Amino acid sequence: MNKIKQFYSSAAWQKCREAYKKEHNYLCEECQKRGMITPAEEVHHIKKLTKYNIDNPDITLNPKNLQCLCRSCHEAKHKRKPITRYTIDEYGRVFPKDGL
Ligand SMILES: [Zn+2]
Ligand SMILES: [Zn+2]
Repeated sequence: MNKIKQFYSSAAWQKCREAYKKEHNYLCEECQKRGMITPAEEVHHIKKLTKYNIDNPDITLNPKNLQCLCRSCHEAKHKRKPITRYTIDEYGRVFPKDGL
């Protein structure tokens, strides 16, 4: 079984997540920044969990690395920024970007 999946179903994470949400009154932190009150549905890891840090509780269970988010803010966080592959010069010619 995938270690990251395993972590998300662990009791330690469930407990940490619930405690974190409670501490933030079950509200989405991003929405709050914009003056909106939205219930938080998920707890997000700011620094993404990978197989390299999954055994490090300083990353996985550290409240500093967590954020209460509603579903739409959470989705926005995970949306990858589009990669610009081409540049257009002053004559309108399209070139592939260096290094890609
Ligand atoms: Zn939100
Ligand atoms: Zn997330």
